[in-house]
Amino acid sequence: MILPGATLGMLGGGQLGRMFVHAATSMGYRVIVLDPNSSSPAGEIAHLHVQANYNDAHALKALAQECAVITTEFENVPAEVLAHLAESCPVHPGAHAVEISQNRIKEKQYAESLGIATAPFYIVNNEQDLKQAFSNIKSALILKTTSLGYDGKGQAVVQTFEEGLEAWKALNFVECVIEQKIDLAAEISVVLARSTTGEINIFPVAENVHRDGILHTSTVPAKVDEKIQDQAKAHAQKIVEALKYCGVLAIEYFVGQNGALYFNEMAPRTHNSGHYTIDACYTSQFEQQIRAICGLPLGNSNAHSAVTMVNLLGDLWGAKNPEWLNILHNNNVKLYLYGKKDARPGRKMGHFCNIASIGEETLFTAEQLFSDL
Ligand code: ATP
Ligand code: MG
Repeated sequence: MILPGATLGMLGGGQLGRMFVHAATSMGYRVIVLDPNSSSPAGEIAHLHVQANYNDAHALKALAQECAVITTEFENVPAEVLAHLAESCPVHPGAHAVEISQNRIKEKQYAESLGIATAPFYIVNNEQDLKQAFSNIKSALILKTTSLGYDGKGQAVVQTFEEGLEAWKALNFVECVIEQKIDLAAEISVVLARSTTGEINIFPVAENVHRDGILHTSTVPAKVDEKIQDQAKAHAQKIVEALKYCGVLAIEYFVGQNGALYFNEMAPRTHNSGHYTIDACYTSQFEQQIRAICGLPLGNSNAHSAVTMVNLLGDLWGAKNPEWLNILHNNNVKLYLYGKKDARPGRKMGHFCNIASIGEETLFTAEQLFSDL
């Protein structure tokens, strides 16, 4: 068990790392953040920011010496780096789980191997693969790069083989998957934790709305059939058990108009759709990550409030900052800004949560507040 006072290592300095640092320092831990950028949301508030690349052997060695445990908030830390670090320091989650999550083919095949349905898909390495997908799947398809995609980047919706080929060319013919575009009734996600002791704890299912492939809102409780929610939780539990996972994991699912649940992808870390836990649950996903990797008992993940989280993207920024008072006048709004200097379109700059008593509506009000910014 790693108790408060110890130093925790964080690979990655983005907003997920920043909220982890907030939670860790509240509990009396020290945090060292490793991130290649000179300024980063987590690095600027950590006890120490090591500015180095993820494969900088010297920096990694120093980190392993200083830290009682190392975790990650950035999905694309090379799995070999985690494996190498693990020789001298506990690293959670481990290289194996991260490697699967970094690769769309591996994660889909892993889900299928456990009997969990995914949208029908084909691996694309040549034109023939692409042809086969179009002759076997009778609907629009989505072409996605196998690795390094996020926020809808590296993806294209395609209707015909010719369009598919054009889109693949635009992706430089890298290995892709092409999958059926599901007729969506809803999108949901499950964030859960499994600790070094094997204890598992699952947060309430969030219902997510995406805009242009980027998460826009997450709402709890989800307005999705309880049976489907239970199934999503059961699948998530099966995955962390099979992987002997340690840390926080997030799984995104599609719910089809036909009522079917499909595994979309997983992230070996805290997740944007779990930010609501800070304000609406007894334990946040960031505190849970600390508890899980330190071998502490997991916290109560139940929701004490209803909530909608709204992402604030760089698009909202013009010559000046958005009018924060327009949302802060509502005393149920909690505002989070990540300290990023450049407000580029599509960049996650912050989020807000609109909380209410359980049973009350939160999404409509949150959308109204958002439109006032
Ligand atoms: P993330 O930032 O979540 O990692 P990503 O770039 O990895 O995003 P996906 O989660 O695969 O991308 O897709 C982004 C969004 O695009 C989904 O949340 C969904 O709204 C839409 N989408 C992707 N694949 C499908 C599909 N097969 N059917 C219907 N909608 C889809
Ligand atoms: Mg996604």
